[in-house]
Amino acid sequence: MAEELNPFKIAQQQLDEAAKVMELEEEAHQMLREPMRTLVVNIPVKMRDGKAKVFQGFRVQYNDARGPSKGGIRFHPAENLDTVKALAAWMTWKTALANIPFGGAKGGIICDTKQMNDTELEALSRGYIRAIGKYIGPEIDVPAPDVYTTPQIMAWMMDEYSNIVRHGAFDVITGKPLDVWGSEGRNDSTAMGGMYVMREAAKNLGIDLKKAKIAVQGFGNAGKFAYTLSKQLFGSNVVAISDSTGAVYDPAGLDLAKLEKAKEETGSVSGYEGGQKLTNEQLLESDVDILIPAAIENQITGANADKIKAKLVLELANGPVTPEADRILHERGIFDAPDFLVNSGGVIGSYFEWVQNTQHYYWTADEVYSKLDKIITKSYADMMATKKEYDGKGKKVTPRTAAYIIAVGRVASAMKTRGWY
Ligand code: NAD
Repeated sequence: MAEELNPFKIAQQQLDEAAKVMELEEEAHQMLREPMRTLVVNIPVKMRDGKAKVFQGFRVQYNDARGPSKGGIRFHPAENLDTVKALAAWMTWKTALANIPFGGAKGGIICDTKQMNDTELEALSRGYIRAIGKYIGPEIDVPAPDVYTTPQIMAWMMDEYSNIVRHGAFDVITGKPLDVWGSEGRNDSTAMGGMYVMREAAKNLGIDLKKAKIAVQGFGNAGKFAYTLSKQLFGSNVVAISDSTGAVYDPAGLDLAKLEKAKEETGSVSGYEGGQKLTNEQLLESDVDILIPAAIENQITGANADKIKAKLVLELANGPVTPEADRILHERGIFDAPDFLVNSGGVIGSYFEWVQNTQHYYWTADEVYSKLDKIITKSYADMMATKKEYDGKGKKVTPRTAAYIIAVGRVASAMKTRGWY
């Protein structure tokens, strides 16, 4: 039978697995298998030729038992409701595992930002907020940037929402530019959080980060910061990196200036001078200690999981490892640190921005990083303690299932205490 690659079906499978192991009550399981609310909106935008074009957008509010729902907005030509539902579910588990006072949500618009100018993008962003404005708010649902949405887009969206409520509502959206009260440290908080998880996992696995060889898939926000931070914080040797068109490998380590030059001049990191060209498949299977998938979903599957050589897989992207691959990696003794722990630095950074916005009191980048370190290191320790507890009961669980047990348990408990079941 072909492996399931629909992200929402995968998210449901992961939940089912955790529900079984933790013996979750049936009512809670039913409530958590589907989103609380799904909005589908159609937004007319007057394009540069004077004609209106209609764009379809989504906002999925998965669960808000523990606080306002929270999650990014993606602008992508291949956006679809099932992907948004899966990402909204993962946001729910992410905020619960981090133990921050939010639920989970996600949004998206089917559009190709590369074909649009700024006027059209601004009109689309404002139109989206008019369409979903009644259903979001600082205490209801707080969006953020994601794939192909930028701090500027967040500023337009915040401004449009402020027009609706007739005051400057800076706390309605996170990931804003600093001059409209974004947060210091938010830009690289996803990768920074991933680095703290890498540090903790390396300690457990006996990997010396100073000597470790690392491969990173993706050279966007998550991947590029993972590359620079692993060198800066730990002196690790990043030997391979890729983007959508190819990869480059150099056992002596890769140089940032040369990577940027290759990207600028040839459009891809694979144009790197002096390195060896690899395909993305070869990068995943390269001989490294740590593999950081930081690009897109479904990269390590049943077809290549037995070829992975890394001792630690650090899932900085959302959904890069399928359930079948997760099982194979686990059986092979490879430690796969799950996405909703590893990349939770993004939403934790967003949480800090929202807290600062609601209090009108602002922190330095160092304060942000040190608070982030405390939260994510505690999440990692919680996950390992739960894994040990279940392993001790003879129910051997993957790190992901252990993290699910905590997150699902917290959401279910909030629903029960509130009297939802
Ligand atoms: P981005 O758009 O900035 O970068 C994506 C990178 O992946 C680009 O370099 C692109 O060339 C590369 N890529 C695309 N398809 C690829 C393929 N088939 N093989 C190899 N590389 C490919 O996006 P981002 O913000 O860096 O996000 C990357 C992942 O991290 C996504 O899964 C996203 O959901 C997740 N994430 C990001 C954040 C954040 O704060 N940026 C937070 C949480 C999760």
